Amino acid sequence: MSFEKLGVFKPLLDAIKDLNYETPTMIQTRAIPLVLQKKDIFATAQTGTGKTAAFALPLLQRLRKPQEGKGVRAVILSPTRELSIQIYEDINSYAKYMQIKTDILVGGKDLQKQRKRLKSGIEIIIATPGRLLEHLENGLNLKDVEIFVLDEADRMLDMGFTKDIKKVVPYLPKKHQTLLFSATYSEKVRKLSKLILNKPAFIETAKKNTTVDTINQIAYQVDTNRKAELLAYLIGSRNFPQVLVFTKTKASADFLAEELKKDGLKCGVIHGDKTKASRLKTLTQFKEGKFRVLVATDIASRGLDIEELPYVINYELPSIPEDYVHRVGRTGRAGREGEAISLIDIYEKYDIRDIEKLIGQKIPKEVVEGFEPDPNIRRKDIDEVKLKAEHAREGKKFIKHEAKVKKVTAKSLKQAKKKRKTTKRDK
Ligand code: AMP
Repeated sequence: MSFEKLGVFKPLLDAIKDLNYETPTMIQTRAIPLVLQKKDIFATAQTGTGKTAAFALPLLQRLRKPQEGKGVRAVILSPTRELSIQIYEDINSYAKYMQIKTDILVGGKDLQKQRKRLKSGIEIIIATPGRLLEHLENGLNLKDVEIFVLDEADRMLDMGFTKDIKKVVPYLPKKHQTLLFSATYSEKVRKLSKLILNKPAFIETAKKNTTVDTINQIAYQVDTNRKAELLAYLIGSRNFPQVLVFTKTKASADFLAEELKKDGLKCGVIHGDKTKASRLKTLTQFKEGKFRVLVATDIASRGLDIEELPYVINYELPSIPEDYVHRVGRTGRAGREGEAISLIDIYEKYDIRDIEKLIGQKIPKEVVEGFEPDPNIRRKDIDEVKLKAEHAREGKKFIKHEAKVKKVTAKSLKQAKKKRKTTKRDK
C-alpha cells in the first residue's frame, strides 16, 4: 500500500516524503480513506502507531480549498499541553506545502493574545478541553467546524475532562464529522462515543490493551533499595544512549534523579509539581540530547513524542495497569524495535500479574547478576503478611470473645434485675 493509493494528494505526499514516511502504517491505511469519505470514526490505536497522521493527513486534505469568510473549520482536542504541541508541530510539517492556518490553544499562555490570533483567519485549532471552553465562553464561534477530533479520548476522560467535552459539543454545528481516537476501549469511551458519533466506522488496529508487537518486554527482579543502583548499572553497562524512566510518584522521581546524578548520569525530571514551562523546557532539552535520562511520572507518559526512543524503563510499575500500555508505547514507535524494562520488587508481584492479565501476555522475569533479590526480604515480607493475618485472626477472636462476654453480662444483669424485682414484691 502507498499513500498515493490511499488517495492522499500531492502537497501532502511531498510533505511526508520530506519526513521519510515511505509506507502508511495500519491505522493510516484504514483511517485515511474513511476520513476522506467524511465518515465518523471510532479508532482504537496505540500511541506510536502513526495515529496523528492517520487523522491529520485526510483532515488537511478535506480542508484544502480555502473558504472565504469562514471561521474555524477543524478542532482537535487532546488531553495535555505536550500532546497538543506535538500534534500542532506534526500538522504544520504535513501542511508545509499548503496554505492553511493552524493555532494551538493550551493553558499557561495569554488568553487575550490567543483571542487576537484567532481573529486572523485560523482554520484549524488544536486545544486542550479546558482552554477551548474558556475561549468558547469568551465568544469563540465554532459554527463553521467541519471536523472535530478527539485524540487520546480515554486519557481525556481519565483526566476528568468528560464535563468539558460535553460542554464543547453544543457549540459545534449539527452537521460535522467526528473522529475519535483512543488507546484503550474503556466503558467511559464507549459511552462518550455513543453520545458524539454518528454511525461511526470502527477501526481496531491492535488487540484490546495489548502492547505494540515490536517492543521487547522484560522485568528484572530486584530489591527496592537497589533499584536505583541497578538502573544506573543497566544504563552504563548496556550503553543506553537515552532512556525514559517512569516512577509512580513525584517523590520517587525526585529521589531517583538525585541518585542518578550521584552516579554521574545527567537527567531531567518531569512531573505534576513542575510548572508547564519547566516541563516543556526539560522535554526540549531531552530531545536535543542535553541529558541521557528523563525521569517522568505518568502525567508525562502521554504526549511525549521522542523520535526513535529505544528504551523505556519502569522504575516502579504504575498503579493502573492501563498506564503500563501507555508508558511502553513510548518506545517501538512506527514499526521500530524498542525495549521496555521493568524493575520489580517483591511488593510489585501482584501489579505485574495484573498487567500481564491486561495485555494478555507473560512478561519474562529475570535477575541481573550481582542484583539478586535478598531471600530474607522475601521471607520477612511473607512473615509480615502472616503476622498481619494472625493479628487479624486474633483480633476477630477477641471481638467474638468480647461479644460473648457482653452477652453473658447482659443476661446476668437481666437475671439479677428480675430477681431484685421478685424479692421486692415478696417483701
Ligand atoms: P504517532 O502514533 O502519531 O504519535 O506517531 C509516532 C511516530 O511515527 C511519529 O514520530 C511519526 O512521525 C512517525 N510516523 C507516523 N507515520 C509514519 C509512517 N507512515 N512512516 C514512518 N514514520 C511514521
